[in-house]
Amino acid sequence: MATRLLLAWLDEPSWSIEWLTERLQEAFPTVEVETVGEVRLPPQLFDVTRGQWLSNMVLGYAAVLAEKLGGDALLLVVRGDAYTPGLNFVFGQAFLGGGVAVVYTERLRPGFYGEPSNRRLYLERLLKEALHELGHAWGLEHCSSPRCVMRFSNSILEVDEKEPRYCMRCAEKLMEAGVEVSSAYIIG
Ligand SMILES: [Zn+2]
Ligand SMILES: [Zn+2]
Repeated sequence: MATRLLLAWLDEPSWSIEWLTERLQEAFPTVEVETVGEVRLPPQLFDVTRGQWLSNMVLGYAAVLAEKLGGDALLLVVRGDAYTPGLNFVFGQAFLGGGVAVVYTERLRPGFYGEPSNRRLYLERLLKEALHELGHAWGLEHCSSPRCVMRFSNSILEVDEKEPRYCMRCAEKLMEAGVEVSSAYIIG
């Protein structure tokens, strides 16, 4: 199965998108990673009182976009914050096995926590969240292996604790789903 992964974004700078595109292409050598460009989200998907995107609706919109653009998978990177009913915030969301994933970058920035800006740290967090949500999009559930990128993270500390790599079991499941993972992205 040849997979075409489309990467779209909203308000995210080109340096992070370019870097992420390269890393994802490295991680998934048989997947064709293609940037489709900046998208606009309908304003009604934004909860003005909370200052957060309604993630369920953003994900639904991303699914429509994926269908329209004809990719096998789509990752949408949104520079902003989001929530879902029952959760004060989410770092990202995906349709399990549905090929569609969204990552929100507001809470990945050190500045959000009052810390000095740190591009390297920010990019590493972005990669972790992208690998995590894409893992879901390709059928992976949460993993209990402590360093695996598929471990559930409820805080930025938990994001920082895991690695931008899959454990062997998660990587094998991805390969069974037709997505090859390069060895540099597997915890050996
Ligand atoms: Zn998750
Ligand atoms: Zn795992």
